[in-house]
Amino acid sequence: MLTHASDQSMKNKITIHLASPRGFCAGVDRAIEIVKKSLEKFGAPIYVRHEIVHNKHVVESLRKKGAIFVDELSEIEDGCRPVVFSAHGVSKSVLEDADIKQIEYIDATCPLVSKVHKEAEQLCKHNYHILLIGHKNHPEVIGTMGQLSNGATDLIETREDAKNYINKKKGKLSYITQTTLSVDDANEIIQILKNKFPDIKEPKKDDICYATTNRQLAVKKIANKCEMFFVIGSRNSSNSKRLVESAKKSGCSKSQLLYSTNAIPIKEILKCRNIGISSGASAPEVLVKEFIDKIKEKADIEIDEIEFAKENIVFKIPNKLI
Ligand code: SF4
Repeated sequence: MLTHASDQSMKNKITIHLASPRGFCAGVDRAIEIVKKSLEKFGAPIYVRHEIVHNKHVVESLRKKGAIFVDELSEIEDGCRPVVFSAHGVSKSVLEDADIKQIEYIDATCPLVSKVHKEAEQLCKHNYHILLIGHKNHPEVIGTMGQLSNGATDLIETREDAKNYINKKKGKLSYITQTTLSVDDANEIIQILKNKFPDIKEPKKDDICYATTNRQLAVKKIANKCEMFFVIGSRNSSNSKRLVESAKKSGCSKSQLLYSTNAIPIKEILKCRNIGISSGASAPEVLVKEFIDKIKEKADIEIDEIEFAKENIVFKIPNKLI
């Protein structure tokens, strides 16, 4: 039975199913560490091209420490200061531009994104035309396409794109993917391509990264027990948006992205007995804690953390910062 929220002795009880793993992945941890170590080594300010990871909270805390975020190198006012490239990776032309401008750079591209870049280069070297499955205008996709010359890669965003794709050059085809896609959606697109082009070359190992896969599987495991499901993350975070889709597909129609504590639908939450929480790979754990604390003010809560997988991956930071 629901009780008046202000009546402390008669709060309603909500079980919070907490997905694990959630939140920061090894690539995000490394990118943030690279900015912090760069500030230590070079002093403030340092420039960071693009949001280092897609999270306002993280960006603001680094800004306070002396990071200046820019969208393009042309916005850098003091070319004597170093620039850090974000975890999403950058086109080769950006590295060349930094060299021409003689700007020192530290590349925080996630090693798992770099792996896809190398894969693309190898495929191109062996005369494969590449289909990149991903989301148009996402920085990672721009960076991956920018590893090769124009026309070497075609973007496949949807099942329709895959169905309608015509191999105009008639040469060998291959595919690679963005690292943060929905595993299910990507598999459907891949199957369409394989049916259409049985000889299409596939990556030796999935390009969708371990963190994306684990977070989606953890959400799927609990979403059907929940009346509402929340994914803490930014509106421009691809992997966070995919987690919301996973929760919906797994049976929780009231699944949503929670991008600000101001957007918490507390009245609706208080009508539930079971809710689920996860967070995107770029969302710090403190935001999960803040959200739970807000609910705790109004309800008795029980936390049920469900661990799908253990993660112990750590990526090295560049030698020049050690
Ligand atoms: S989501 Fe995956 S690819 Fe992206 S930064 Fe994290 S580990 Fe790297």
